[in-house]
Amino acid sequence: MNRVRCLVLNAALGPLDYKVPDGMVAGPGSVVECPLGPRTVMGVVWEKERLPGTDVPAAKLRNLQGILPVPPLSAPLRRLIEWTADYYCASLASVARMTLSSGGALKGPATSIEYRLSGGMPERMTPQREAAMEALGGEQATIRELAGIAGVSEGVLRGLVNQGVLEPIEVDIDRPYRRAEPGFTTVELSPDQREASDIFTAAVEARKFAPFLLDGVTGSGKTETYFEPIAAALKNNQQVLVLLPEIALTEAFLSRFEARFGAAPILWHSSLKSTERRRAWRAIASGDAQVVVGARSSLFLPYANLGLIVVDEAHEISFKQDEGVRYNARDVAVMRAHFEEIPVILASATPALESLHMADTGTYTRVELPSRFGGATLPSINTIDLTEEKPGSGQWLAQRLVDGIEERLARKEQSLLFLNRRGYAPLTLCRNCGFRFQCPNCSAWLVEHRFSERLACHHCGHETPPPATCPECGEPDCLVACGPGVERIADEVAERIPDARCFVATSDTLNTPGRAAEFVAMTEAGAIDVIIGTQLVTKGFHFPNLTLVGVVDADLGLEGGDLRAAERTYQQIAQVAGRAGRGSKPGEVLLQTRHPTASVIAALSEGDRDAFYEAETDARRMAGAPPFGRWAAIIVSSEDEAEAKEAANRIGGTRPNHDGVDIYGPAPAPLSLLRGRYRYRLLINSKRTVNLQDIIRRWLGGLDLPNSVRVSVDIDPYSFV
Ligand code: ADP
Ligand code: ZN
Repeated sequence: MNRVRCLVLNAALGPLDYKVPDGMVAGPGSVVECPLGPRTVMGVVWEKERLPGTDVPAAKLRNLQGILPVPPLSAPLRRLIEWTADYYCASLASVARMTLSSGGALKGPATSIEYRLSGGMPERMTPQREAAMEALGGEQATIRELAGIAGVSEGVLRGLVNQGVLEPIEVDIDRPYRRAEPGFTTVELSPDQREASDIFTAAVEARKFAPFLLDGVTGSGKTETYFEPIAAALKNNQQVLVLLPEIALTEAFLSRFEARFGAAPILWHSSLKSTERRRAWRAIASGDAQVVVGARSSLFLPYANLGLIVVDEAHEISFKQDEGVRYNARDVAVMRAHFEEIPVILASATPALESLHMADTGTYTRVELPSRFGGATLPSINTIDLTEEKPGSGQWLAQRLVDGIEERLARKEQSLLFLNRRGYAPLTLCRNCGFRFQCPNCSAWLVEHRFSERLACHHCGHETPPPATCPECGEPDCLVACGPGVERIADEVAERIPDARCFVATSDTLNTPGRAAEFVAMTEAGAIDVIIGTQLVTKGFHFPNLTLVGVVDADLGLEGGDLRAAERTYQQIAQVAGRAGRGSKPGEVLLQTRHPTASVIAALSEGDRDAFYEAETDARRMAGAPPFGRWAAIIVSSEDEAEAKEAANRIGGTRPNHDGVDIYGPAPAPLSLLRGRYRYRLLINSKRTVNLQDIIRRWLGGLDLPNSVRVSVDIDPYSFV
């Protein structure tokens, strides 16, 4: 009898066995419909020996209901799903669901009707009909698109359909994408770039697993360098995946890509429309999609023939997913390359310490681009000690920084002010009674946004218009803003430099690719003098006329209990500094700080990256932190505070005793209330040699907690909130 084991897409269920009815072929990887009680669930046929199953007698097995019309998931992808579930302590079903992420695509091909000229003539020719027929030539498209091409109304064309002049053609609804051409244009690479790209291209040709760290200063032309191996993969008819950290960065990337390869790459991110998602998914699975540019979720797609993965800005923490399956796309990308047996390039000017360590120990091959392309120089970095050069009352910018902006304005150059705080002010209170506006769902202050006239929670999205009177004491017009956000800095610039044209660039204002493109176009055209932005503007952008970067509060990132706070601060400031002086004019960076001698600030102003990384490496080694030790977090939450606390205590009470493993907590999380759930945390620190996942699985597996309690495991956590 033909019996198969299926991974069913239901996280609560283990693998189930089914019978394959006569005439059905269901090999490993086939995406199938499995009967489950009265329902049908989706499943994937898996190798029996790799998934523990149940011993349901053959006579009791139910038949598989059907096979979905998509190619079977490949063995390397199945291994990736297993590895991800195992490493991040997630269910196989929840990982597999990230692969099968287009309901439309799983239904198989669908058709629509297009029209083209049949060669026949209408009974009665009108000038409009004649013009339309002339304009259409060999075009084939929907009536609507043809109307656009011919410049006539859809009614005119429908008339031609009735007359048989336009004939209907049934086509696949997911039209093929325009082909990228590896040799569409070529770029002359600098000797350094050429050397690097030759190494990558050889690795593509070798078709073996090869992880690279492309360590190149900002403006060194990392993109051009990895375009060459992309061209090599295209020539071999292989697919390429480029992971980018932010959707706001994609626009500039897309136009560069199109200029180089003659066609745009295929986009994959969470806000695709379902039709776009289906089209992309099917093209990826069939192998027609050549280059996919995506957010982290594009890693789990069923590429038919992957030849190269690039992770650009690989140090970015947005590659870490912090809900659902808590994975780090940078690390999963390396694992996918491993299973696919292909090269992977991690590109960054400020690599994560973990990645540098891998390069230092020889696990990754380091490829360096030590200087900026085209003779541009790295900017000079100077500090402004805010304890000595105090801004005026109610102001946040030292006079020297304002002078710098004015100088640039006089020379028609641009400035960028960086402050990683959206909105007007991080805290709002009542001047009369001191009442502070807090989110009802989270233990967080509401942030005033003046542009949109609302108070907003940056954790759950809760919003409310600013009240006319204090909700506590009833005093009218009583709100005072405490501290600066980017909008407040924009007000200050407008007041102190009235001629400057300012633009506030944050995820609030650049929230669609179209708006991001508009911002880039305005900046390039010189319509903006001062950009005031959050971390969104620290990376990717290339504005040759931008010569001054001011960091409003260089100490901001060092506050809070983040394990990687120093590293994050270093990366963020080095990246934003990297926006200055990318063209022929030299750049200057001014860091406002109250701690000019702090090691991060000193390393930045001396341009001594190695000194910073060495100090940070020592600190991590002492603390047994990654990459020298391992971290994991357990987050326990419930809508009921007492229940959350009790569950956390029960988990804490059954903590395993293990050599080389330290467990801290439970303690209320810094964000002890988030989206209406009370949260407790436990932190685990272990030696590298310990199988931490196994310990956690055995520990949590034995507990029977109420359904209303959620327990999430975060392996290699980034955020400690
Ligand atoms: P990075 O990502 O390393 O910061 P980019 O790839 O954005 O640098 O390159 C910086 C700028 O230099 C871009 O405008 C890019 O088009 C240009 N550039 C880089 N390499 C070349 C090259 N070989 N020929 C022409 N322009 C280049
Ligand atoms: Zn909230």
